[in-house]
Amino acid sequence: MKFRNFKMVDYVVYGRGCFEQLDEILAPHRKEGAPMVFLLDHFFANDNAFKARIPLRGNDILVDADVTHEPKTTYVDKIADDLKAKFGTVSGVIGIGGGSAMDLAKAVSLMMTNPGKAHDYQGWDLVKNPGVYKVGIPTLSGTGAEVSRTTVLTGPTKKLGMNSDFTPFDQIVLDPELIKNAPVNQRFYTGMDCYIHCIESLQGTYINAFSRSYGEKALELCQEVFLNKKQWDEESDEQLMMASYAGGMSIAYSQVGVAHAVSYGLSYLLGTKHGIGNCIVFNHLEEFYPEGVKEFHQMVKQNGIDIPVGITKGLTDEQFNTMIDVSLGMAPLWENALGKDWKEQMTRERLRALYERL
Ligand code: ZN
Repeated sequence: MKFRNFKMVDYVVYGRGCFEQLDEILAPHRKEGAPMVFLLDHFFANDNAFKARIPLRGNDILVDADVTHEPKTTYVDKIADDLKAKFGTVSGVIGIGGGSAMDLAKAVSLMMTNPGKAHDYQGWDLVKNPGVYKVGIPTLSGTGAEVSRTTVLTGPTKKLGMNSDFTPFDQIVLDPELIKNAPVNQRFYTGMDCYIHCIESLQGTYINAFSRSYGEKALELCQEVFLNKKQWDEESDEQLMMASYAGGMSIAYSQVGVAHAVSYGLSYLLGTKHGIGNCIVFNHLEEFYPEGVKEFHQMVKQNGIDIPVGITKGLTDEQFNTMIDVSLGMAPLWENALGKDWKEQMTRERLRALYERL
């Protein structure tokens, strides 16, 4: 038995209003002539009040990060190549936004110091050099991207992260005040990503006391905010932010499961975003996670959310096969969910039938 020796985020600051400390936090990491690069989720493109709070100094630059789609390797390369051409190197990359903006920041940081193209590093432990200093600041909570050792990217042939010990952030800034303006639907879908992380981790075969202790707490916080409370309040933002962190810690030492394996196929083929894609899939997973799915249905109802249905209607055999190939490629997820004999259990026919139900 070989145990995973995993790298975590180096520094964490938590608290309502702690974003104000960002300037001070970045100061020791500034290098002469090399700017700090702020990749800001395009959700804030017209939010000048928020932009004014970003501590730009000297030749720092603020980039409106286009996260309409989850980050593509080509987009990562373009940003990194432009920065290298213009500045040679940068002092750091700061991702402010949801999971996509944070993943983009991690990937750009790594591509500032690693040769070749981002798609060369899609996989496990392929990254050769530490990236430049990188900071993650969530404005939407649930993905766990703030603590993960990956950065999910869509490349020319696969949707796969740059999983490595160099991938986690050097610093994260967890300020619950920053997530208060998230649109209700978006907040729900992303929050459910966390809920699903917990169910998949806790009911998986890889579960251990480390993962369980974080997973149970994150689950309890999700139930508190999406089920037990009458109204969303400041405390809900605090609880959801910590649920995301703990949910991310839970899967760091275990693995996700069926919903993620199936939704990766959807997002590869149809571009479905991670949070909503997981909800679309989880909605139909009673046979795998009966209690979790029942509770999920209650949360959907109570929060007045619509989960799209019928999204695979009219797809061709070839398209179904593409999704099935992408999904079955996620071996560790299936093994965690179903055990070592997962291949006998999850046949192509069974998976096809599942995709047809979505
Ligand atoms: Zn997820």
